[in-house]
Amino acid sequence: METNNSKVLLIYTGGTIGMIKDYETGVLRAFEFDNLYKRIPELSHLDCQISVHSFEKVIDSSDMNPQHWIAIAEVIEKEYDHFDGFVVLHGSDTMSYSASAMSFMLEGLSKPVIFTGSQLPIGDLRTDAKENLITSIQLAALKENGKSVIREVGLYFEYKLYRGNRTTKINAEHFQAFASPNYPLLVESGVHLKLMRENLWRPQEKTSLRIWKEFEQEVVIIKMFPGITKLTLEGILSLPSLKGVILETYGSGNAPTYPWLVDVLQKAIQRGIHIVNVTQCIGGSVIMGKYEASEALRKMGIIDGKDLTTESAVVKLMILLKKRIPHNLFKIKFEENISGEI
Ligand code: ASP
Repeated sequence: METNNSKVLLIYTGGTIGMIKDYETGVLRAFEFDNLYKRIPELSHLDCQISVHSFEKVIDSSDMNPQHWIAIAEVIEKEYDHFDGFVVLHGSDTMSYSASAMSFMLEGLSKPVIFTGSQLPIGDLRTDAKENLITSIQLAALKENGKSVIREVGLYFEYKLYRGNRTTKINAEHFQAFASPNYPLLVESGVHLKLMRENLWRPQEKTSLRIWKEFEQEVVIIKMFPGITKLTLEGILSLPSLKGVILETYGSGNAPTYPWLVDVLQKAIQRGIHIVNVTQCIGGSVIMGKYEASEALRKMGIIDGKDLTTESAVVKLMILLKKRIPHNLFKIKFEENISGEI
């Protein structure tokens, strides 16, 4: 495997990674990625060429929305033929949503797109940003026989590369901020980069990149909890504009068996709202019909979210709702694997 002569584009969107502490005032301010080599001289030891695209307005990832996802995808589309790989610097808070979105939006992707960020600013003494950044660049540059080794959207954090659409943020202060509970690692970084080849996504050969840019935002995530009332659930589900629901159920896809709840969900489905069942557990899968508590959901035609993360499920729903899929085929299409998310 080689990285020499690879060209990597860093796309800087914002987040903690881009901050530097002014030690005189103690204030955090945005780091100028254009002066990257001056700030992080270690980068010059990498035998690849790095260019930077910084968004004019860098943001905390709490402000991310589908318009930003489109802007990121458009940069990748425009520069696709000029670079071997892409590293997206992003706040960690919503990184799993953006990485999931990108995995569905970049159809036919055959180069690496690695999301990374950090828990401490790049200018902080104990920062995790440098390692995350340097290894992400290395991963984006990896080639073998002239072809990219990684051909999917990954998320690199604290010595691990995960499939982006399998990740979830699990910790607000540990350097190990992410997990991929239902899919094994793609790469582990130690003294050597340990590649788990059998876990890498292999897209169909010879496809060209197309990007998807439409999102239905009239969707909602509802988390079941003991004590949820009819009034609340009915209120949400009767919103006239509502098109889709991610229902976070218990365990392997279970919901209360109260007749009113079954009735409210059924009415929403009859009104044409698509409802996806995902588990609120951190790991494991929905298995509808395993318990009586999910049998009613299965019978009414609720979509099986299998082992999707909520992040992946909601983005997939926003995209598929815009794909003009005939109503009776929507469930079948949703339950199909698009880019390794299931
Ligand atoms: N609030 C920050 C963000 O997501 C946290 C981070 O960057 O890790 O933009």
